[in-house]
Amino acid sequence: MTQTSIHKLLIANRGEIACRIIRTAQRMGIECVAVYSDADKNAQHVKLADEAWYIGESPAKDSYLKADTILEIAKKSGANGIHPGYGFLSENAEFAQKCSDNNVIFVGPPVGAIEAMGSKSEAKSIMQNAGVPLVQGYHGDDQSESLLQQEADKIGYPLLIKATAGGGGKGMRVVESSSDFIDALNSCKREAISSFGDDQVLIEKYLTKPRHVEIQVFADNQGNAVHLFERDCSVQRRHQKVIEEAPAPGLTSETREAMGQVAIKAAQAIGYSGAGTVEFLYDEDGSFYFMEMNTRLQVEHPVTEMITGLDLVEWQITVANGLDLPLLQDQLSINGHAFEARIYAEDPNNDFLPATGNISYMGLPVTNANVRVDSGIVSGDTVSVYYDPMIAKLIVWDKDRNSALARLRGALSDFHVAGLTTNIEFLHQLASNDAFIKADLDTHFLDKHGEELTTADQSLSNDILAVASLFVMLRQSEAHTADGEDPYSPWNTTSGWRLNEDNHHAIELIHNNQHHMITAHFRDTGFLLEVNGKEILARGELRDNQLQVDLDGHKSTVKLAVSGNNLVLFKNAQSWQIEIKDNSLISLDQDNQANLTAPMPGTVIDVLVAPGDAVEEGQPLIVMEAMKMEHTIKAHKDTTVDEVLYQVGDLVDEGAELIAFADEE
Ligand code: ADP
Repeated sequence: MTQTSIHKLLIANRGEIACRIIRTAQRMGIECVAVYSDADKNAQHVKLADEAWYIGESPAKDSYLKADTILEIAKKSGANGIHPGYGFLSENAEFAQKCSDNNVIFVGPPVGAIEAMGSKSEAKSIMQNAGVPLVQGYHGDDQSESLLQQEADKIGYPLLIKATAGGGGKGMRVVESSSDFIDALNSCKREAISSFGDDQVLIEKYLTKPRHVEIQVFADNQGNAVHLFERDCSVQRRHQKVIEEAPAPGLTSETREAMGQVAIKAAQAIGYSGAGTVEFLYDEDGSFYFMEMNTRLQVEHPVTEMITGLDLVEWQITVANGLDLPLLQDQLSINGHAFEARIYAEDPNNDFLPATGNISYMGLPVTNANVRVDSGIVSGDTVSVYYDPMIAKLIVWDKDRNSALARLRGALSDFHVAGLTTNIEFLHQLASNDAFIKADLDTHFLDKHGEELTTADQSLSNDILAVASLFVMLRQSEAHTADGEDPYSPWNTTSGWRLNEDNHHAIELIHNNQHHMITAHFRDTGFLLEVNGKEILARGELRDNQLQVDLDGHKSTVKLAVSGNNLVLFKNAQSWQIEIKDNSLISLDQDNQANLTAPMPGTVIDVLVAPGDAVEEGQPLIVMEAMKMEHTIKAHKDTTVDEVLYQVGDLVDEGAELIAFADEE
C-alpha cells in the first residue's frame, strides 16, 4: 500500500491540545486547519492555525462532536489528515472509519483497535487471552443478578462494580460486603444507563492501596512496538488525575521492564499503531494488573516527552504517514524526572466545583528547558460552561524528583491567574506536602491528605492590607509624576486632595464582601499605615506588575494585576482579589477647599509664581520633591496669587498651606 503523507492537517479539537498539535505540525512544515464553535471565535487555536473554520454552536454536540461537518471541512479545506487530540472524537471508531472512507488519514490507531478497547469487559477478555494480568474479577456477558452476586462472593470484598461502557470515573461503585451488593449493583446500573446508555457491568476485586501507573506505548504499521516508560497518576480527585509524574517513584527497573513488555503485548494483541496508553493498577506487593487502554494521546503525555526528549505528536504524525517508529526500544532511555500539574478553573475548597468566567489577567512563569506551559488561554479569555475548565498544564523537569518538585513549587508561585478561582494554591500545597514529597502515593492520596491541603486562611492579613494600601498610595504618586494631566488624580487637584488636621488619608478596601479601612500618613521615609490598630511603616516601588515592598524593614516582592478598581495580589501561589473603593484617595476633609496645600511632606524645589500674578486653572505653581519624585502643584482655578508661603529649599509638612490666593480668606 502506498501511503501519502499528511500535508494539511485538520485538528478536530480546541484549547491547549489543539495549540500543542498545531505547533508541532507547523514545525514539520504541515499546514494546519482549526475548527471552532461560537464560544471559541477568538480562541488561541484559531489564531495559531493557518486557517480556521466555523463548525457550530458552543455545546460540543453541536460543534466539536459533529463528525460529518468536520469531515466536510477537511474536504473543503484540502486537509488530508485529521488529528482528534483527546476527548471529543478521539476514541470514536465510527469517526475513524469515516475518515478512512473519505481518504483522510486519521492520526490514531486502526478502527478495530479503538473498537476492541471501547468496552471495558471486551478489553479484559482480549487481554486475558493475550496473557496480560488482570485483577481477579468477572467480565462475562451473563448479567443476571444471581450470577453477579455469586461471582461477587467468590471474589470477596471490598470489590468494585464498573460500567463496562464507563469512563471519566463515572459508573463505579465500591462494595464493602455481600449484603450491600444488590443495592450497589442497581445504583451503578442506573448511573450507567443515564450516562452511557448501557447498563452492562463488570466486577473486580477492589485494591485498597494501589497506585495508578500507566505505560506509554507506540507502534507503527510495520509491526514495531516500543514503550516510552511509565507515568504515575495516583493523585486523583473523583478518579480524575491532578498531578502526574514520570518516572513512577520507587518503581524498580525489573518492574518497569515487565510492565512495559506487558503493555507492548496488550497493544500487539489488538493490532495497534500510533500512540496509546495502557493503564495498570500497581499494588503494594509489586504486582500489577491491566485496567484499560486509552487509544489516543493522553492529557499527561508531556511528562513522557520531558524525560525522553521526544515529541509524541511528531511520532504520531510519522506513524500516521506510514513510516517506521523513529527509535527502537534499546535507543530509548529515561532522563531525569518530570511533573505535570493541571491548572483548573475550580474551587478546591468547595469540592473542586468548576469555575467559569473571564480571566482578566494571566501571568506565566518563565518557560525554558525546565519549565513548560501548555495552554490555549491568554489574558482576557473566558472559561465557559461548555468545555473542560482546564486553564493550562504546567510541566517541569529536573535531574531528580526533589529538584523537579522544587521547580514545580517555584513555577506554581509564578503562575498568576486573576478573575476566577483556580486550584493553583492547592497544587502548591500538594507539591509542598510531606507525604507527597516522600512519594507516599496511592490512589487515595487526596482522601487521606486532602485536609492538610485545604488552602490557607483566605482572610486578609494586616500585611496584605498594608501591601494593597501601599499600592494605592504609590499608584497615585506615580499617576502624578507620569503625567500631570490626569484630571482624576488627587495629586493634580487641590480640591480632592485636601488634608484635614490629622494629615491622613482613608483607603477603603473590599475583600470577600468585607470592608477594611486603612489610614495612611505621609512620612519622609514612606507611608505610615494604620491597619487594624497597628502601625506599619510602608515603602516600596511599583514597576509594571511587580511591587517591591518594605514593611517595617521586611522586604519582599509581590506580583499584582489591576483591572479597573480591582487589584489582585499574588504571593507564594496565594492570591487575593481586592476592590479599591473609588473614594479611597480623597481626603477625609472636604471643606477648606480654597488654599493650596502640600499633598505630602517634601522639599520645595521650584516656585513658578510671585505675589500678584494672575494664574489660570492648571498652571504649574510650585514644584516639590518627595520620596525622590517631583510633584508639580497646579492651580485648581483661575485666580490671583496673594502670597507664596515657602521658598526654594524649604521643608514642608504634609498639608501645609503653600500659596494663598487673593480671592480667599
Ligand atoms: P475510568 O475509565 O472511568 O477512568 P478506570 O477503570 O480507568 O475508570 O479507573 C479509574 C480509577 O479508579 C483508577 O485510576 C483507580 O484509581 C480506580 N480503580 C479502578 N479499578 C480499581 C480497582 N480494581 N481497585 C482499586 N481502584 C480501582
